[in-house]
Amino acid sequence: MPEALPLTPTVIHECVSIVRLHGEACFHCGAVSKTLREAGLVKVCGSSRVWRIVTCGCRGRAAAE
Ligand SMILES: [Zn+2]
Repeated sequence: MPEALPLTPTVIHECVSIVRLHGEACFHCGAVSKTLREAGLVKVCGSSRVWRIVTCGCRGRAAAE
């Protein structure tokens, strides 16, 4: 069992493009042509759906502020 990713999703309070939630683009900058890697789980405020996001490395982690 890989344990690298956090189990608790980061809750997002703003509108996020659906392609970013689908892991088809960097969650932070929207890049699609870079190497994307898994960056953890997020949950959109008001929804129970959990999304597995990716980033291109432009930021360390999911929107964790
Ligand atoms: Zn990026």
